Amino acid sequence: MSQHRPTDNRSGAEAVPEGLWTKCRQCGNMLYQPEVSDDLYVCRHCGHHSRLTARQRIAITADEGSFREHDSAMRTSDPLDFPGYLEKLREDEAQIGLRDALVWGECTIDGIPVSFAAMDFSFRGGSMGAVVGEKFVRAAEHSIERRIPLLVFACSGGARMQEGIVSLLQMAKTTAAVGQMGRAAVPFIVVYTDPLTAGVFASFASVADIVIAEQQSLVGFAGPRVIERAFKIKLPPGSHTAEFQFEHGMVDIVVSRRELQPLLVRILRLVSPRREADAE
Ligand SMILES: [Zn+2]
Repeated sequence: MSQHRPTDNRSGAEAVPEGLWTKCRQCGNMLYQPEVSDDLYVCRHCGHHSRLTARQRIAITADEGSFREHDSAMRTSDPLDFPGYLEKLREDEAQIGLRDALVWGECTIDGIPVSFAAMDFSFRGGSMGAVVGEKFVRAAEHSIERRIPLLVFACSGGARMQEGIVSLLQMAKTTAAVGQMGRAAVPFIVVYTDPLTAGVFASFASVADIVIAEQQSLVGFAGPRVIERAFKIKLPPGSHTAEFQFEHGMVDIVVSRRELQPLLVRILRLVSPRREADAE
């Protein structure tokens, strides 16, 4: 395990004033901050998986020092001139250090080159507007050009409502890019992480070749609260979990974060189109 992982707890466990200890949101036990990243942000008492930022995801997944980011400066043009939108974006930028909700680039995983993208729920709820859509398509095109697999960690609250129809267009655009990957015989692997809903679940994330989900993640189209309010019904417990989606054929495998890395390496070794050429 790399020693330089970021240990900020912005999206993870609850902060306590001293800074060295955090509290697990699920079981309430205290966690020693320096151990949190070594534990992959999984509670060692109850197994609760904290949400990861895109940077944390890259740090625990890519080979150390191998990630090369592309298009880090890309920003939305605020196509609808939506009131207050630019101010909200600047606030998220200042707080999170990203310019939108998806980070992409190329890295290696156990030496295997991949086109890699990670979404960040802390930036505008991981919502997909023009920048997320464009970056996803560029990651897909890069994987086609380089003949390397595309690996995407998806978490999202859905479409970016401040970008209106431009945001909805990204659903078609990203799904078309997955079609291009299929025709080029380049593999696309997606990992559902907590939470994954709405426009991202209903577009590129649902049409990957291999769909992995982290255990206990909330996964579904409309969120449970939206359905209960709209239809005035009470949903059964667990109706929006990765496990439920697995039972109903929407997910190929559900794993704990501790099992994820070896699984990804195994899959990448099997599907990487360039592996044979590299070995020669
Ligand atoms: Zn816990």
